[in-house]
Amino acid sequence: MRTIGLIGGMSWESTVLYYKLINERVRDRMGKLHSAPLLMYSYDFQEIKEMQYDGRWAEAAASLAEVAQRLEKAGARAIVLCTNTMHKLAPDITSKLTIPFIHIGDATAQRIRSGGYRRVGLLGTKFTMEEDFYVDRLRAHDLDVLVPPADERADVNRIIYDELCLGVVADASRRRYQDVMAALVGRGAECIILGCTEITMLVGAADTSVETFDTTAIHAETAADFAIG
Ligand code: GLU
Repeated sequence: MRTIGLIGGMSWESTVLYYKLINERVRDRMGKLHSAPLLMYSYDFQEIKEMQYDGRWAEAAASLAEVAQRLEKAGARAIVLCTNTMHKLAPDITSKLTIPFIHIGDATAQRIRSGGYRRVGLLGTKFTMEEDFYVDRLRAHDLDVLVPPADERADVNRIIYDELCLGVVADASRRRYQDVMAALVGRGAECIILGCTEITMLVGAADTSVETFDTTAIHAETAADFAIG
């Protein structure tokens, strides 16, 4: 198998899920006692969050690129960045690598297209929902992307940083997400992207009338399939 380099800790609550899901996929596909060869760098998420909110993106890009290069030097055959939001900096990372970078947006869009969907509702951090880097990546796969209105985006974002990244899973927040997803479906969304790697802790298939696409599971499975080759 090929070794995967994981860049995690954003937050560690979802990196735990990656670790489990990648290994479960390898076990299910390969049997016996097989598990995934992995290298991981796990960030102090407070430092990342401060860079995000202060707009210190160049600093974050330099750090992520350096970490990715260290993983490559240590033997990783592909890099997996365990967060949707920090894919804003994917070009800065890939330009420094000679190994593949498994992009969470591409993996998710391919899965959605093979499901026959075109118009998607997107939930994620404010960066993911409001900036071009993620939405444009989905559009490049011919997807039509709907995001919630401003007041709903603020709640979706707050629940990620103030609750889910701290391991807090609250019924009131689940209800809020259910309402936000219902509104997206009302506007024509044929499916919903759980476009933040912690959202799967809060909601899933049972919380909306349409199919959900869990970026954590899709990205982890894609990584495991790369490892198996
Ligand atoms: N893990 C989240 C994501 O997938 C948010 C945390 C972050 O800002 O990296 O976007």
